[in-house]
Amino acid sequence: MKPLRLLAIALMALSLFAQTRAQSTAHPRHKPVTHKSAPQSAAQVHQSAIVIDTHADTPQRMLDDHYDLTEPLDGGYLNFASAKEGNLGAEFFSIWVEPKLYEGHYARRTLELIDTVLRQASKHPDQMMMAYSPEDIERAHREHKLAALMGIEGGHSIEDSLGLLRDYYRLGVRYMTLTWSNSNDWADSSGDIDSPGVKHTEDGLTDFGKDVVYEMNRLGMMVDISHVSDKTFYRAVITSRAPVFASHSSARALTNAPRNMTDDMLRAVARSGGPESKGGVVMVNFYSGFISDDWRNAWNLQAAERQTAEAAQIAEWKAEGKTITYEMTDAMDKQWAAKIPRPPLSMLIDHIDHVAKVAGIDHVGLGSDFDGIPSSPQGIDSAADLPKITAALMARGYSAEDCRKILGENFLRFFREVQATAKELQAQAGERPRITDQQPFRKQ
Ligand SMILES: [Zn+2]
Repeated sequence: MKPLRLLAIALMALSLFAQTRAQSTAHPRHKPVTHKSAPQSAAQVHQSAIVIDTHADTPQRMLDDHYDLTEPLDGGYLNFASAKEGNLGAEFFSIWVEPKLYEGHYARRTLELIDTVLRQASKHPDQMMMAYSPEDIERAHREHKLAALMGIEGGHSIEDSLGLLRDYYRLGVRYMTLTWSNSNDWADSSGDIDSPGVKHTEDGLTDFGKDVVYEMNRLGMMVDISHVSDKTFYRAVITSRAPVFASHSSARALTNAPRNMTDDMLRAVARSGGPESKGGVVMVNFYSGFISDDWRNAWNLQAAERQTAEAAQIAEWKAEGKTITYEMTDAMDKQWAAKIPRPPLSMLIDHIDHVAKVAGIDHVGLGSDFDGIPSSPQGIDSAADLPKITAALMARGYSAEDCRKILGENFLRFFREVQATAKELQAQAGERPRITDQQPFRKQ
């Protein structure tokens, strides 16, 4: 152990001793003693929080590989045991439809993924319950069950239909990223914004795209700006009546990935929503490539070699008549990722800290991207390791109250506001404004 840490522990012990002495002598007997509660350990703080993670890609495993959350992790990041150990209270299961593989069948694949999550919940009612609201998350917490929620990743899932969007809400979907890495007919993605062959919108969202955002506001579906292009981001912030959020994005000032958010964007999320809004929240992504420039550069350097090798492998599987599943491609990516040293946990904490400082402590949370990423920081091997994040934050001086905000309270506040805004908009039935850029408020 480092001498500085020893000194810190000695000082802490001394001050604890002094506190106990002060408490036992300062209060005369007849006066009611108001004990200042003892400082909580990081483990206690983590255990006392409703821990919410807003992005896990586990449904791919469940559907294609019949993975059951009661099984051992077997290379994955999330199952019931790891969730319990990490005190994970709520998980948003990502409903992600690979746009090339499922071209022409987006709705079918979306519905199958939703079904797979709902079936897990009905198979294991003692360990997991579907949650559709902040109140449901709190109820699951009281009942010591994992609250399972769903978010669609990629607006292409609605196949340009507001009817499908509403159907997905009815089935329980509570957020949607306007795009995944692919632009769609009405919103642009950071993933292909510079690709010359791809058609893009003029100003970030088409009129139909603004309709989608409005309809999400009216339904109470959270507008998720992870993955979108910068222009689409700003257009969504201006268009949305409710605050917006990023379900799994990190800070671009620290790691220069186009999927990450600039400081200006972090502040815009914090200020999003109507004049009375408490603002949105940025849920930090754990992916090594989003939290470390070194890792990202190394990954990009092997891109050509990796893509050639993976394409050859896929061709071989296809020739053998095999169906290519997410598990198969994920395993290949993981092998390549394993060649690059994982960044330290402190780099993930740097991102959380940066968002907390730039956007504000009320506007940051966790969006792991578990089971959707080939590499995570050292020490974060599954949901069981979530308490390490709380410990690292407290070591940096974050209070118990701040940690509980980051772990889940910020997101719950945001979720509540989105649902309250929906109620207000539903009460204005018939007064639906035409979708133009002239929104009822402008905060920028
Ligand atoms: Zn994603």
